[in-house]
Amino acid sequence: MNKKTQRFSEIERLNKEVARLKEQLDLLALKDPLTGLYNHRYLEDAIEVEFARARRHGQTLSIIMIDIDYFKSINDVYGHPFGDMILKQFSDQIKRMVRRYDITVRYGGEEFVIMCPGADCAGTKSLAKRILDAINLYNFGNNETAVKLKLSLAVACYPDGKLTKGMDLIETADKILSRIKERGGNMVYAEEDLDKRRKESLKKKDEGPEVKALKGRIDKLTKRANESLLEAIFAFAKTIELKDHYTGSHVERSVHYAEEIAREMRLPKDEVENIKVASILHDLGKIGISEKILHKRAKLTQEEFDTIKRHPQIAIDIIRPIHALHDIMPLILHHHEKWNGEGYPHGLKAHEIPIGARIIAVADVYQALITDRPYRKKFPKEEAINIIKKESGSHFDPKIVAAFLKIIGRQK
Ligand code: GH3
Ligand code: MG
Ligand code: MG
Repeated sequence: MNKKTQRFSEIERLNKEVARLKEQLDLLALKDPLTGLYNHRYLEDAIEVEFARARRHGQTLSIIMIDIDYFKSINDVYGHPFGDMILKQFSDQIKRMVRRYDITVRYGGEEFVIMCPGADCAGTKSLAKRILDAINLYNFGNNETAVKLKLSLAVACYPDGKLTKGMDLIETADKILSRIKERGGNMVYAEEDLDKRRKESLKKKDEGPEVKALKGRIDKLTKRANESLLEAIFAFAKTIELKDHYTGSHVERSVHYAEEIAREMRLPKDEVENIKVASILHDLGKIGISEKILHKRAKLTQEEFDTIKRHPQIAIDIIRPIHALHDIMPLILHHHEKWNGEGYPHGLKAHEIPIGARIIAVADVYQALITDRPYRKKFPKEEAINIIKKESGSHFDPKIVAAFLKIIGRQK
């Protein structure tokens, strides 16, 4: 080989190397580095290819669009790197659940799209439901901090009269997703479900004014508060439920008892409303308490108990900047006061304690008693009721206990 041909083959080798690197770079540009999933750019091309293929061969094409609920609050509470770790774990879980020929894409920050070629709407909805159930049960995080995730999943399917190109599927899913968010998230919806809901609500036009008013209020409560700070606060409250290792819907149930007691005592409407909001947020301050203490099985040391006692103050420090929550601050601050003056943080006595705080105390303690806790099993209802009765006049306001017993009696 003379020198010239040697140089030529060298150049050829280098050219091949460049081509290989370029291919790799192209692939990297189509993949998300954090999760290893395909990215937005890839989806935009791939969905048109899949759509054309489905149309040509008369096949179906379905997609699932997923948005993690309240993800921002995970970053806010535990930091961005922790959030990144959760996103990675989340995509690993999704990868395990999809079929081999499904294509999973990280569409945005905490938004994902699964493209399911050849899958019909019913099948895709059941895949979406399986994903939701599995993710709801899974513990994300590390040894120190476990978080649960809630998801909104929108399913869009071809063929459907209105769809003429691949991106139409994405647009449809996007619209469905915002309707899910309006309804509180953590659900699977396809377009047909939205129609069903619309028809049902038309059918119910002839309900009485009270039912309508109540439904209107519930709708309003369910719709996300526009004020982002307020939204973050309620998201925090949800995180607390997880952090404190309550199972199921502890918060919802104690809110229910607090509201019932307030009604039974014929408190004015505004007051009932304040009591409800305060009982949603009353344990917010536990965000500032280490999980080692919250989950401790053994008896707390004096020092640890002193730390726990700071949670009402921490809560009101958090919500102080929010004007709309000013009225409920005293209710949160004093929900651990006792009727005999031996509670905390201020040792208020009897009627010095705001009535809302006295009500929340009964509802919260009862609900906690009938729930499994890290340090003990739940009490049977009868036993829990007896504990509340026994503490009437010492821990609790006797009038409130009486109202509580009436409600419980009616439920039997
Ligand atoms: P919603 O229930 O309405 O979906 O609430 P959300 O908090 O999930 O809000 P939204 O979808 O509007 O915001 C997404 C948040 O996800 C914003 C940002 O804090 C977080 N996020 C986006 N990308 C990343 C990322 O790469 N890493 C981390 N750690 N967080 C991200
Ligand atoms: Mg989002
Ligand atoms: Mg989200």
